[in-house]
Amino acid sequence: MKIKWLLLSLSVLTAGFLIPESHHRIPVAGASVADWHPKSFWYYPWGRSGTHKGIDIFAREGKPVLAASDGVVIYTGNDSVGGNIVLVLAAKWQFHYYAHLQRIDAHAFRLVGTGEPIGTVGSTGNASGKPPHLHFAIRSLFPLPWLYDSRKPQAWNTMFYIDPNKFLAGGKFMSKHILVADDGAYPSSISKPIRELIRQTGRIKQGEQKLVEPLKKPVTCEIALLSGSFADMPQALAERADYVQRFASHVSHEFKTPLTSMQRALFVVSLPLSVQG
Ligand SMILES: [Zn+2]
Repeated sequence: MKIKWLLLSLSVLTAGFLIPESHHRIPVAGASVADWHPKSFWYYPWGRSGTHKGIDIFAREGKPVLAASDGVVIYTGNDSVGGNIVLVLAAKWQFHYYAHLQRIDAHAFRLVGTGEPIGTVGSTGNASGKPPHLHFAIRSLFPLPWLYDSRKPQAWNTMFYIDPNKFLAGGKFMSKHILVADDGAYPSSISKPIRELIRQTGRIKQGEQKLVEPLKKPVTCEIALLSGSFADMPQALAERADYVQRFASHVSHEFKTPLTSMQRALFVVSLPLSVQG
C-alpha cells in the first residue's frame, strides 16, 4: 500500500516537471510593459500580506486575461482577497495566480495554452473600488535557493516567488531580452531569431555570402520578411559588385584608346622641341 502511494506521489511529482516550458506572454490582451510598474513586485509595505508578491497589470475592465504560459488549470473560485481567481500549474511546479478577475472563463483540471483566454480583467476582491487590473503572481512549490535575497523584507519568502518581470522577459535571455509591447509578446522566442539575424549581418559584412539563409523559425511574419531580405542581400550586393566591376573595366577600355593616342600626340609634339632645344 505504502509503495502504491509512493509511486502515485512520485508520478504526480514527475507530471509537474513534465509540463514543458512554453513561450510566455503578457497575460492581458493588448497590454504592454508600460501597463504595470516594474518595481511593483515585492513592493513593501503592502496591506495585510506585507509585500506585493506579483505585478498589477492595469487594463480596461472586461479585457481578456490570457494564460501567460501552457499549464493545467487547478483551481477557479472566489475569495475576499483575490476576488475571482484562477490558479494554473505551469512548468517546473510553478503556480500562476490570476486575481481580481471580472469573469472566470477557465475550468479546473483543463489544459490551457499560452494566450488562451481564462477570464476578464476586473476589480473583484480587495481591489474593489480601485482601477481594474490583473494581479499576476508566480509561486514555486519548491524553494528556489538562488532567488533568496536576505536584504528584502520577508526574505524567507523570496525563495518561493518568481519575479513576473523576469518571467515575462523570457528567463534565460534576460540580459539581452526584447519585450514586444503589443498583443503577441513572445520575448525569449523573439530574441533568438533576432540574434541569429544579427550574426547573419556580421557574415554579410565579412563577405560570407553563402552562409546566409532565411531563418528556419522566424517566429513572426515581420522577422520572416526581415530574414528573407537579409538572405537576398548578399546576392544583391554580389550582383552590384559585379556590375561595378564590369562598368569599371568597360570605362577603362573606352578611355584607354584616346589616352594612348593623346600620349602619343604629346610625345610627337614634344619631340621636335627637345630636339630643337
Ligand atoms: Zn496586486
